[in-house]
Amino acid sequence: MKEVILVKDGELALKGLNRSVFESKLVNNIKRRLKPLGEFKISRAQSTMFIEPISEDFDMDEALEKIGRVFGISGFSRACVCDKTVESIFETAPEYLCDALKNVKTFKVEAKRADKSFPLKSPELCRELGAVLLQSFPHLRVDVHNPEITVTVEVRDFGAYIRGNQLKGAGGLPVGTSGRAAVLISGGIDSPVAAYMMAKRGLALNAIHFASPPYTSALAEEKVKKLLEKVANYSGTIKLAIVPFTEIQEQIREKCPEDYFTLIMRRMMMRISCRIAQTDDCLGLITGESLGQVASQTLPAISSTDFVCTIPVLRPLVGMDKEEIVTISRQIDAFETSILPYEDCCTVFTPKHPHTRPKPGQCEKAEEKLDIDSLIEKAISGISYSYIN
Ligand code: ATP
Ligand code: MG
Repeated sequence: MKEVILVKDGELALKGLNRSVFESKLVNNIKRRLKPLGEFKISRAQSTMFIEPISEDFDMDEALEKIGRVFGISGFSRACVCDKTVESIFETAPEYLCDALKNVKTFKVEAKRADKSFPLKSPELCRELGAVLLQSFPHLRVDVHNPEITVTVEVRDFGAYIRGNQLKGAGGLPVGTSGRAAVLISGGIDSPVAAYMMAKRGLALNAIHFASPPYTSALAEEKVKKLLEKVANYSGTIKLAIVPFTEIQEQIREKCPEDYFTLIMRRMMMRISCRIAQTDDCLGLITGESLGQVASQTLPAISSTDFVCTIPVLRPLVGMDKEEIVTISRQIDAFETSILPYEDCCTVFTPKHPHTRPKPGQCEKAEEKLDIDSLIEKAISGISYSYIN
């Protein structure tokens, strides 16, 4: 039995003239994601995309799993293709959907007839196929309002497509259609979730991680890479910059008032991230900050870090509770990695009483003994890059 995957695009429908740009981005994203699974063909007709395996060993289950994580898709399903004759449809449907139909009690049939030369009109096809299915599965009952399974038949130019329930797609916009931004990734729970949320709004991702060896370990870096792999399942490839941050933190400790350590450290992160974003064609930064969650995430603290930024900082978690963030973290399978214990550079020199409400000008004063420009240059020259898939 020949099987295909049918894909319905999501918010794309809203995009008017940009629609074709969005569609071709989505097709390319799907192609890139499925490429490791073997050869396949993608075609499109009437707001449905058809993914047709060509290689014998193309793994449909894995393909479906991957499609479920591609943004820009509202729903998808596997479907069987048969000849577009009444006999063939009546023979194929009970056989193809046998397992699914055995496990439910109620169903209905929906039919769509793109090919108007097909001898039965849609309501007739629904009725007659319904009767065939009731005969093959006498335990079933028709429920047109709330069926456990909807059997859909679409009669199209090159054949009839038969499928059961559609699966919910990842939603959002195709990655890349909103441009590119760099996420500041820490190894905690929040930043991977923030990255996922912005990829969902169509941003392609780069990532920046600040590491302070020997205070932070190689395991902390491995953890960050593992978290980015979870995000890349949705966003596609992520270019990661690991920035050496030890000297900056030591200098801050030596030359700045203790209650400003965290704020100054965050301002340095932002300055360096803006520079990296510029060279890597990123139009914005993404952080996992949530208002009031910790001392450095009060509004005055956020504004003191924003002050040194030359590009927008996106904070998709700003209005979310930890519990809501954790729910998404679990959903993208990042949580178990996020809670591994390795130290992050933020926890290395934490002040006992961090300043939470800096007034304008106070941070500048607190960091006046630092040679900011040369620290930034040195950190940037020590960056190591890698690609996460
Ligand atoms: P997370 O769970 O993402 O670590 P958090 O609640 O621990 O967040 P902070 O430690 O204050 O909060 O960090 C706030 C944000 O700053 C993080 O979400 C992340 O975007 C960024 N950040 C923190 N530490 C680093 C780091 N070592 N490298 C890159 N970005 C970082
Ligand atoms: Mg953190």
